Amino acid sequence: MNDMADDIGLLNRPAHELAALIRSGEISAVAVTEASLARIEALNPTVKAFLTVTPDLALEAAKATDDALARGEELGPLAGVPIAIKDNLCVDGVLCTCASKILDGYRAVYDATVVERVKAVGMPIVGKTNLDEFAMGSSTENSAFFVTHNPWDLSKVPGGSSGGSAAAVAARMAPLALGSDTGGSIRQPASFCGITGLKTTYGRVSRYGLVGYGSSLDQVGALAADCVDAALLTAVIAGQDPRDTTSADVPVPDYVGELTGDVTGLRVGIVRELMGEGIDPEVRESVLTVARALEGMGASTGEASIPHIDYALPVYYLIGPAEASSNLARFDGMRYGHRTKERAADHIEMYSRTRAEGFGPEVKRRIMTGTYALSAGYYDAYYLKAQKVRTLLRLDVEAALGQFDVLLSPTTPLTAFGIGELVNDPIAMYMADICTFAANLAGVPGLSVPCGFTKAGLPIGAQFTGRAFEEGTILRVGDAYQRATSHHTSLPGLLGAGG
Ligand code: GLN
Repeated sequence: MNDMADDIGLLNRPAHELAALIRSGEISAVAVTEASLARIEALNPTVKAFLTVTPDLALEAAKATDDALARGEELGPLAGVPIAIKDNLCVDGVLCTCASKILDGYRAVYDATVVERVKAVGMPIVGKTNLDEFAMGSSTENSAFFVTHNPWDLSKVPGGSSGGSAAAVAARMAPLALGSDTGGSIRQPASFCGITGLKTTYGRVSRYGLVGYGSSLDQVGALAADCVDAALLTAVIAGQDPRDTTSADVPVPDYVGELTGDVTGLRVGIVRELMGEGIDPEVRESVLTVARALEGMGASTGEASIPHIDYALPVYYLIGPAEASSNLARFDGMRYGHRTKERAADHIEMYSRTRAEGFGPEVKRRIMTGTYALSAGYYDAYYLKAQKVRTLLRLDVEAALGQFDVLLSPTTPLTAFGIGELVNDPIAMYMADICTFAANLAGVPGLSVPCGFTKAGLPIGAQFTGRAFEEGTILRVGDAYQRATSHHTSLPGLLGAGG
């Protein structure tokens, strides 16, 4: 095992600083990647963020980046910076399990577009991270393999479903990670783990090669140490992709260039419905300090409203499972991963045994509720009604964003809960995402930034929601806030650097 002290100064730096050191030749991409792999070796047995570690793939990419620099080629802004990938994104030749037994042993046969893009800019992929099975959950406790631990307090969950990616970045096992967000799965774990996470506008980032959960809601996005890093990674993965017809033909702005630090005159709407009942007072106070900090920088604040927000949870839990029940029909034992060893009289019996053995309880619950909501006689009452209420919610969000440039709220009503605390209470678990659903249902971008700690030392996250395709604006606000504060630079005690 490597001496932690060797790499601590290095990997505790944000990705943009590491990239600058690599570009200037001060440190090689191979050395940074080795430090990342050493830290994974040291910490992953405790944190359990990774399902698969890919040292050969990572070191080969790092060497290619070093060789390119030696040949005098110009390196991109993230060249040589290691990245972790959520295990529902395909990396050619690497296991892709979605933390499900049904895909146990399955290796992807192509790269997701986002993976192709991070490879193309010279980022070494160090491994695949744990998640709730098929991205269904808020704690990684629905992983079929193991639970990931929150680096800030190992007895707590890291959030989910991108809990492995969030924990990997929080413990700086990798400077950056990719996650996916259908109802909060990037922002909620970012909040629980004290890091920055961006869910982009629906259509901003290609979903090709992301194993689909709720296809009208899913977006791939960045988990990072700060807004500069999130902006850099988003610039790499964003943009139209002919292989995903829902990806939008909208030019990708210079996200880093938009980080001017200037929020003068910006109108910030504090979402009234997400500041009251059910929100932990410590969380509320902390989010209000963000509003005050922005006022101090010349922004104005006011009260915004999303009147239909109470419907966000039921609408999400109809549309998400309905789409999931359709997406997950492909896992039948014929094409991918697990097939039952039991003798089956016919293919129907084989499908049903395979699925009964392969899917975990939460996935089964959603396939059943989704199938029910789509079935003849119930479609109009549930699915269609949910789609109509989704439109009302989208109109609410758009109206609020007509009055304000960004919306501010907590990312989560509570901070990280204990492992095992909510597993037997699915509704309480569903409530963990009450603040994040609206952005997915409305298709707009949402950013979580660390904004403080509870008395018990757990991170608190503030969420900025922006207009469609205005990721640059929420990143600018988040970055301005981070320039003025230091919550995002605090590191978990297990890194030996103090909290
Ligand atoms: N936690 C939410 C759920 O359980 C959101 C998941 C996600 O965004 N993938 O579905």
